[in-house]
Amino acid sequence: MTAVMDSSYPNKALTNTRFSDLKPPLSEPLLEALITAGFELCTPVQAATIPLLCSFKDVAVDAATGSGKTLAFLVPLVEILRRASKPPSPHQVMGLILSPTRELSSQIYNVAQPFFSVLPNVKPVLLVGGSGIKADVNKLEAEGANLLIGTPGRIYDVMERVESLDFRNLEILILDEADRLLELGFQKQITSIICRLPKLRRTGLFSATQTEAVEELSKAGLRNPVRVEVRAEA
Ligand code: ADP
Ligand code: MG
Repeated sequence: MTAVMDSSYPNKALTNTRFSDLKPPLSEPLLEALITAGFELCTPVQAATIPLLCSFKDVAVDAATGSGKTLAFLVPLVEILRRASKPPSPHQVMGLILSPTRELSSQIYNVAQPFFSVLPNVKPVLLVGGSGIKADVNKLEAEGANLLIGTPGRIYDVMERVESLDFRNLEILILDEADRLLELGFQKQITSIICRLPKLRRTGLFSATQTEAVEELSKAGLRNPVRVEVRAEA
């Protein structure tokens, strides 16, 4: 694999694999959205992870900060939700992304923004602490949501309180920054959330360090995961 280093992001080596070269192929609208957002070549973690998640495999990914993990899970998530045979009903949650902090959750939501147009039938919602939960609960009851992005604390609370949300058809769960999720003490909420999700789903776990706790979480939440390990090049 030829690697081109971008000095502003020391860990972001680009491969010579284009998003349009990946197999199974990504859909045309998603490829167009990637190009419009300025993404043409994959980073190593993207080239390795996207085909796996797109072909029904669970993945446990260990790659340094800055290696491009966000698109490594957003691209397959968008592709998988796009493939759904019929549009979800308003309260059917099809995708769930758990991230350790309010800031990181908002960042993911912002990176995902240009791709929401590829999913006109999917309503995304950002769910983080800091503001009162009542507003989130009322809004979700009234309007529903098909993709939840947020912190485990707020997402668990919402699952407890909004009975109309239906997770039975969930396609994909992403645990981003799994090492930090556990450092911040979210183990219990994550386990409770996973208990309420269907077993037949895809799960991606992303981490910058491989700890014993991450390994435990991977055992509890993933099915025969493929390990993807990308070490920063010297
Ligand atoms: P990580 O989650 O692994 O820390 P990010 O997903 O936040 O890394 O990506 C780090 C930076 O690399 C971001 O600025 C992002 O826009 C950029 N980036 C990611 N993938 C690509 C790509 N395929 N081409 C160009 N830049 C990319
Ligand atoms: Mg990240």
